[in-house]
Amino acid sequence: MSDTFDIDLASSLREPTLLNHRNYINGQWKKAVSTDTYEVMNPATGQSITGVANSDAIDAVHAARSARQAFNSWQRTTHRERASLLEKWHGLIEQHMDDIACIMSSEQGKPLAESKGEIAYGASYVKWFAQMAMQLRGDILPDSVPGRQQTVEKRPVGVVAVITPWNFPLAMLARKIAPALAAGCTVVVKPAEDTPLTALAMAKLADMAGFPPGVINVITASREQTAIAVDAWLKDVHVKKISFTGSTQVGRYLAERAATSLKKLSLELGGNAPFIVFEDCDIDAAISGLLAAKLRNGGQTCVCPNRIYVANGIYDEFASRLVDKVAAMKVGDPFDEATQIGPMINQKAIDKITHHVQDAEENGGILLCGSTNAREGFFFEPVVIADANNKMALFSEETFGPVLPLFRFHTEHEAIEEANNTEYGLASYFYTQDHQRIHRVKRALQAGVIGVNEGAVASEVAPFGGVKASGYGREGSHYGLDDFLQLIYVCEGNLG
Ligand code: NAP
Repeated sequence: MSDTFDIDLASSLREPTLLNHRNYINGQWKKAVSTDTYEVMNPATGQSITGVANSDAIDAVHAARSARQAFNSWQRTTHRERASLLEKWHGLIEQHMDDIACIMSSEQGKPLAESKGEIAYGASYVKWFAQMAMQLRGDILPDSVPGRQQTVEKRPVGVVAVITPWNFPLAMLARKIAPALAAGCTVVVKPAEDTPLTALAMAKLADMAGFPPGVINVITASREQTAIAVDAWLKDVHVKKISFTGSTQVGRYLAERAATSLKKLSLELGGNAPFIVFEDCDIDAAISGLLAAKLRNGGQTCVCPNRIYVANGIYDEFASRLVDKVAAMKVGDPFDEATQIGPMINQKAIDKITHHVQDAEENGGILLCGSTNAREGFFFEPVVIADANNKMALFSEETFGPVLPLFRFHTEHEAIEEANNTEYGLASYFYTQDHQRIHRVKRALQAGVIGVNEGAVASEVAPFGGVKASGYGREGSHYGLDDFLQLIYVCEGNLG
């Protein structure tokens, strides 16, 4: 097990202290108590970047204790102090964007420009919640009885456990940690096995910003150890909330386990987004919106269109123009400026994508570009599949890769029925120039996020989250603080 860093990565950073391989607990960098480590791999090269702490329940308990102690004083800080520290953190994230992007692209595989885009996007949440901290206020209620004053206070829920996926290693963290801290909560964080280094770099920047010890704690763990470590938080009565982004399967498990201690939950779960292209749309806009929504991060995003419904009248033209664009996309080294799609995250991802493409062919799909198999390593050329249908696995499961299946529809009613024909409800998109249709379709779609003639929908000012099996809770926007606060009603009587 390696405790050094990949030499190329380490030497490319202006601020080498951003690379860390120990847990960050109570303001200190600590090995796992067991001293166990696991390797973080570069998905583009298959080489190890470094070994990081393979934490277990003991490390999780230490992190939670540290967060609990820090909560005593952090909850009493003024909104100005919290906002100021968040502002400093935001400034440092922006200042060190190039370094963080190198770390992120190395462990996650997304092209360098996309890593920078994600960092700017994640930083926007830190800035936004610094501003939201300044706007925290309660209410004075109307008098219902003479001589009585009734007020509502908003108080932080307490220690929050933050569990994040590998596809957006920085943005998912920022979207959770920033509102938690703004509200006055402290956090224990478990990033995904594949992408711990970006999270540790964020902890380093928080340390540099001057957050008190224990306010942010980060532990890393391999997939095998994760459930053991997180279980310690699920059992801990002082951990009051779980904020989770990841698969619906793990979300359900956490909800069941958190029920015993009645923790608050925010669950940002899987998706199976439909993208509907009506006959009256601007086809160029629809194609560029589709490419932006679908192929960002190589198709490994929760909001990326998984099923593309195209009106019968424009099906062939749309397919042929789409294929021209998709076949020209460059797949390769994330550090090459020309690259548009980097490697997939790991072998498990490649296996699922391969299965979906092979299964689609077996069920009557026609490959218009791309192939059934991955290239060497974790690289997968984007695939457009015509004649997609409901028998295919990709109809009901997230592919999480660069696969674009084209379903044909004949009526608006049919398109809406099919779009909603899924247990998920995270994002939906449609393209049309008919205003009455926009009104009808947006009301009929079952999704927490709806893009109308727009493929890139996420923003710090907007509430992000799903309905149905895509979970509950909202991140971002002025609603995003609510999940980290509890309302306390105070009734003062006999006031004369
Ligand atoms: P995942 O397997 O559910 O993992 C997410 C996180 O949960 C990781 O940190 C993982 O750790 C941890 N985890 C796994 N098993 C656990 C357990 N038994 N107890 C506690 N924690 C556990 O999901 P993923 O494959 O990383 O991410 C892809 C999924 O996330 C997709 O379904 C995608 O749609 C969804 N997603 C949703 C949103 C949204 O905002 N709704 C955003 C991004 C992604 P390990 O890495 O160590 O296994």
